[in-house]
Amino acid sequence: MTESANPFESLQSQIDEAAAYLDIDDDVIERLKHPERVLETNLSVELDDGSLERFKAFRSQFNGDRGPYKGGIRYHPQVSRDEVKALSGWMTYKTAIVDIPFGGGKGGIVVDPTAYSESELERLTRAFAVELRPLVGEDRDIPAPDVNTGQREMNWIKDTYETLENTTEPGVITGKNLASGGSEGRVEATGRSTVIAAREAFDYLDTDLEGATVAVQGYGNAGWIAAKLIDEMGATVVAASDSSGGIYNPDGFDPVAAKDHKNETGSIVGYEEGQEEITNEDVLTMDVDLLIPAALENAIDGDLAEDVSADVISEAANGPLTPEADRVLEGEDVFVIPDILANAGGVTVSYFEWVQNRQRFYWSEQKVNDELEGLIVDAFDALVDTIEEHDLDNPRTAAYVVAMQRVADAFEEGGRFP
Ligand code: NAD
Repeated sequence: MTESANPFESLQSQIDEAAAYLDIDDDVIERLKHPERVLETNLSVELDDGSLERFKAFRSQFNGDRGPYKGGIRYHPQVSRDEVKALSGWMTYKTAIVDIPFGGGKGGIVVDPTAYSESELERLTRAFAVELRPLVGEDRDIPAPDVNTGQREMNWIKDTYETLENTTEPGVITGKNLASGGSEGRVEATGRSTVIAAREAFDYLDTDLEGATVAVQGYGNAGWIAAKLIDEMGATVVAASDSSGGIYNPDGFDPVAAKDHKNETGSIVGYEEGQEEITNEDVLTMDVDLLIPAALENAIDGDLAEDVSADVISEAANGPLTPEADRVLEGEDVFVIPDILANAGGVTVSYFEWVQNRQRFYWSEQKVNDELEGLIVDAFDALVDTIEEHDLDNPRTAAYVVAMQRVADAFEEGGRFP
């Protein structure tokens, strides 16, 4: 794993590759490569011992041509301005490939949340919500959870915003719990789209998913749900990892029991006696039919890609392959379902949550899952049509061709102002 690839440069190189297949003016392509604005702020938060600590935080609004900016908020020590810019760009093309009426945004705080108490995290989150207040709103910018944030943080942000604005506006944020206006099916949505997309890819490649072997890197919200659902579809999860290491069982293991073990001990490592412990790299290079990277960006660089043995990769994480890794895998005939499609379930069900909030009318889990299935299958079909139309080796380029065209159309149809 390399820390060196700059995710914002990766995004720009992905856009350049797709631009070659599009009839879009260079100056518009240039617009599609940069965020419209980035908030950089320093949050002063009182800790439990009475001292004051400063935290750097960002919110990037990449593109709003197709609708309000949309994207999660991440808490991680490695959050940086360029990372947030890249993630907001990926959101722009993600909302476009699944064709939901949103733009792209992303936020983050440079923090290791495990080092702080719940009340400290609440003050930190509310301090960020105060800074975000002029930027967000259900028709302006709608944050959501990302790495190390979840329903709890979303509820705090909603409460802070509504208190300051003296309103009820649950659609200002998505990923809330049900009592605060969340949607059925939201927690599972990212893992669900990852496996729906994988199932479509197996179908397209005329391969059987039943009995296929699967390795999952990262066992958080996206990874563990993907493991559970792919197991339910008849595939066998043989390997998984989290930040403490990996486990391997050639006969497969029970993804739910592994998650229970992680909940109890903090890691999947050591979950079953006799199970082989392996490294994170072993998981990424394992000879399996399907690899699901579900941790952070840059998990596979050009060197590691040489050792990847999976036939299909479904990117639950954002940006897990560097552009060099893409080039290597392209030559080796690995079918990579790009992040902007594979993990788009999260933002798609966020969209459903926003629709339900605005209508004050809530859907069943079955309806949410059915609507999600329809949009992901449509997006996959658009991807395949574009692969075939342009004879493309890299599905990621095809996804950007579809998505960039939609964003550019919205921009051009809006006319230029001023
Ligand atoms: P999470 O915090 O719930 O889980 C992250 C997991 O990755 C944890 O199990 C952690 O231990 C593991 N991890 C971290 N570093 C690792 C390493 N070096 N090797 C192996 N495992 C490692 O986060 P999440 O919400 O599941 O997000 C994971 C990825 O999915 C991110 O790239 C995120 O942007 C993307 N994503 C998430 C959602 C969502 O709805 N949660 C939506 C779209 C994309």
